[in-house]
Amino acid sequence: MNRRTRVRFAPSPTGPLHMGGVRTALYNYLYAKQNGGDFILRIEDTDSHRFVPGAEEYIIEALRWCGILPDEGVDASGHVVETPSERHPHAPYRQSQRRGIYRKYAEQLVEAGYAYYAFDSSAELEKARAEAEASGQTFIYNQTTCKGLRNSLTLSAEETAHLLETTTDWTIRFRMPENTVVKMDDLIRGHIEVNTDTLDDKVLWKRADELPTYHLANIVDDHLMEITEVIRGEEWLPSLPLHYMLYKAFGWEDSMPRFAHLSLLLKPVGNGKLSKRDGDKLGFPVFPLQWTNAEGEKSRGYREDGYFPEAFVNMLAMLGWNPGTEQELFSLQELVKAFSLDKVQKAGAKFNPDKAKWFNKEYLRLKDDASLAELFVPVLKEHGIAVEDCPGGMDYLVKVVHLIKERATFVADFWDIAWYLFNAPTEYVEKDAAKFWKEENYELAFKVAHFVCAYDGPWEKTSIESALEEYIRGNEWPMGKVMNCLRLALTGSGSGLGIADILSFIGKDEFLRRMEAAGAKLGK
Ligand code: GLU
Repeated sequence: MNRRTRVRFAPSPTGPLHMGGVRTALYNYLYAKQNGGDFILRIEDTDSHRFVPGAEEYIIEALRWCGILPDEGVDASGHVVETPSERHPHAPYRQSQRRGIYRKYAEQLVEAGYAYYAFDSSAELEKARAEAEASGQTFIYNQTTCKGLRNSLTLSAEETAHLLETTTDWTIRFRMPENTVVKMDDLIRGHIEVNTDTLDDKVLWKRADELPTYHLANIVDDHLMEITEVIRGEEWLPSLPLHYMLYKAFGWEDSMPRFAHLSLLLKPVGNGKLSKRDGDKLGFPVFPLQWTNAEGEKSRGYREDGYFPEAFVNMLAMLGWNPGTEQELFSLQELVKAFSLDKVQKAGAKFNPDKAKWFNKEYLRLKDDASLAELFVPVLKEHGIAVEDCPGGMDYLVKVVHLIKERATFVADFWDIAWYLFNAPTEYVEKDAAKFWKEENYELAFKVAHFVCAYDGPWEKTSIESALEEYIRGNEWPMGKVMNCLRLALTGSGSGLGIADILSFIGKDEFLRRMEAAGAKLGK
């Protein structure tokens, strides 16, 4: 049977999406698009204790920023669709709104003998745990220990019926068979076998809040939403045997999705997992967008740090996948064509923050000058410069950007590289001034300035440059020393863009003004 490819990204709104989560969403998206299928966003919010306000909105916005747009699960305005329609036949996509669906599936398993009712209170379970610990063991709820606990396997049918009627803190647990080998296949990891004796009887549904746990909701929804491949993080691999057993218990083996578990993202140094806290500690973002937690603490985001979404997505795609060629720059459309799960690596992928910057630099270079100039406008505004303040307006910005883009990694760098094309220096780096602003040199520099300002050739870089250099050379003055004085007056330091470049932007009058200002402050 040839089924339409349908994959899903199923985050729990327990906080901001980590970049590893974005990568999972991206691989799902690429897989769906490559196979002409659907990419679904499902919000798994059945664990109300872990719910974090704003997290769902964050997830949706982050995916939109990255251009990883779901076919189902959100509408064009970014909201999770709540009622079924032709395009969204499986709505709602938020599990808390599907709560009515799951109970009957859990009960179906009880009736068929694959699950049972458990009446243990948290105090009883706590006691069982403490007793096990006292004898040096770890308590797991399984077919051995459940014999000493209160559940429908140990109580009479009447007692069970009575407790179901009169109490509200019971659960339905999966009845994990004893000593059975579960044989599984993973598209990335290959064949895996696990003995059920290592597994516990997981809770599937809770009467207290009438909600399913992750395992039940996840399997039921993947089935109802006709998911063909489950591509998710490695942290879910330990759940895979239970998920296999659930598909079997429901009799859904024929339509069971194929599974692919993605390796973790690792810290730049060492072998540890890249955690949510690492970013701010290690000096780079781990979140796509900035996040402010309930205590008002901010975590950095790639967007706010000035990354282009295309660069971020490209970088993420290459973290754990490679095309098998030397090509590193891929648009989203190119990734859709090139991606394949069999080239996803099994080993963890080490995150390299310098490589992330490299991608941004490459994408910045690829952008045309006019769009970079547009992006530069808000940066200038932050520094009190309006487009109208620049001679020639936008054209001035386009030319500045053209001159400096090769040196920048982020748009904000434009300011650091070229602020003196917008503002005159008011301070001079002390050690540069001491080194360069010497009487025998600045006297010559003033002469050069007056000569250049009297020069009536075209006011553009190459002609300014030759006039300047011919004049200095003709007088046999020390070229480097004179140039250093000019640069100090123009930029406030001993480094910066070429003198002729700077002059072509700021013009003659400003040139003389800056020479006078430097003279007034440093001596003349
Ligand atoms: N809700 C799970 C999570 O937060 C989804 C795991 C899965 O994809 O099955 O990652």
